[in-house]
Amino acid sequence: MSAAKSRGPGSAEEPTSQCCICHNRFDNYQIYEYRGILACGEHFDEAVFRRNAERAAVVAENNQQTAPFAGLNLTEGPIGRANQEILKAEITAAAVVGPRTSSYEERA
Ligand SMILES: [Zn+2]
Repeated sequence: MSAAKSRGPGSAEEPTSQCCICHNRFDNYQIYEYRGILACGEHFDEAVFRRNAERAAVVAENNQQTAPFAGLNLTEGPIGRANQEILKAEITAAAVVGPRTSSYEERA
């Protein structure tokens, strides 16, 4: 009865890209990509704004993790090596990527 139902998944005409704001699906030529996210023409500006805000949060999180070592000599010289030894546990903890960073990088 309904001819519209015959378009199955995998069909070349099937809209496959989903806008991250309105979650509607679009054909590839109607959707725009920015740093790993997709948005339709109507929501692209908002998506870019959200993505940049997310990125700023990630940068801030990373800066916070490495801030305790700012100005410290952690080079391969004798002083740097001594500092690395003393701060071993803290450096390891800071190297663990925060949850926001990992979710950001998964989609990047
Ligand atoms: Zn949209």
